[in-house]
Amino acid sequence: MTIAFIDLAAQQRRIKPAIDAAIQRVLAHGGYVMGPEVRQFEEALAAFGGARRALSCGNGTDAIALPLMAWGIGAGDAVFCPSFTFAATAEVVPWTGAEPVFVDILPDTYNLDPAKLEAAILAIEEEGRLAPKAIIAVDLFGQPADYPAISAIAKRHGLKLISDSAQGFGCTLNGQHPLHWADVATTSFFPAKPLGAYGDGGAVLTDDDALWDVMDSLRVHGKAVVGDLKGRSFDHDPKYLNMRIGMNSRLDTMQAAILLEKLKVFPEEIEARQAAADRYAEGLKGAVITPAVIDGGRSVWAQYTIEHTDPDGLAAHLKTQGVPTARYYPIPMHRQDPYAHYAQPGGLPVSNAAAVRVISLPMHADLTADVQAEICAAVRSYNG
Ligand SMILES: *Cc1c(COP(=O)(O)O)cnc(C)c1O
Repeated sequence: MTIAFIDLAAQQRRIKPAIDAAIQRVLAHGGYVMGPEVRQFEEALAAFGGARRALSCGNGTDAIALPLMAWGIGAGDAVFCPSFTFAATAEVVPWTGAEPVFVDILPDTYNLDPAKLEAAILAIEEEGRLAPKAIIAVDLFGQPADYPAISAIAKRHGLKLISDSAQGFGCTLNGQHPLHWADVATTSFFPAKPLGAYGDGGAVLTDDDALWDVMDSLRVHGKAVVGDLKGRSFDHDPKYLNMRIGMNSRLDTMQAAILLEKLKVFPEEIEARQAAADRYAEGLKGAVITPAVIDGGRSVWAQYTIEHTDPDGLAAHLKTQGVPTARYYPIPMHRQDPYAHYAQPGGLPVSNAAAVRVISLPMHADLTADVQAEICAAVRSYNG
């Protein structure tokens, strides 16, 4: 038997009739771009995520860029984010002309360290070269960042707060979704994410209607939206009026139709992921450092990431046992060439230390106790 790192085929077997029917509906109506499923999915997603509105877009990277653009963040501005994350978190900041400022993480949850965040903001304010504008907190590996502390800091310094929940969509802290504290929560529907499509996709959740409208404009080349037309008259079709520099970042109708079906089973999949995480914690106790979740937090377990003094050796050993692994993230962003010159006040010792220790095990909603017992035995049999 081969063990899958993320078993999308098993998920498909569970829900295939519903997915097939959804795809056929789109083929029948032919509205491939911005068809009816897109709006339906946005409404269902907002309801699930505790938001007034959801705006779908082309991928989880654009989902972070859209609010930054809508807020007019640009040259001379600082956006604070972790370095121990997927590239997209930091990448979107220079797109706008602003600069990422890298902040270190907590050693147990790998999420932003609030004390270091505030110290970094003070250091940038003191230096005076950049104007602090926003914080991007990441829900790494599926668990919520420390939003009560981070949002208090954001308020104190007048900063916008983005929850990059590409890995954590569906996670909660004290029963609340990240949007309870953040101005926007963004996610990705990349197939391997906890809520994945069969292609690229992303979304921004917000309670701010005016922001939603501007992002709606930006995702379609800066088209005029209702607010732009108010009180004005035109002798031409305002459909081709461009009010701002935007982009093309729409969620395909086909993906929206697929996601509508996947969202229906997502709550039970989150439960199944939690059960799998509990089995790992039990099976690996004492052998490796198993993940810690913030008090009051519920992770959606995008990854099950353990720590070992020799992760590469463990990975090679597990490979011989038929167990696939992945290393997220061996090179933090502040040590990647295109990003190395950005500010990193106080340094990033915890990110550097995590990078050489982390290794992720297979994790998905269809992982069985039997397979996990094999994986745990394989981990325990490594004496590197
Ligand atoms: C996957 C991911 C993204 C980007 O999502 P895409 O849909 O691949 O563009 C952003 N942030 C984090 C933390 C991610 O894991």
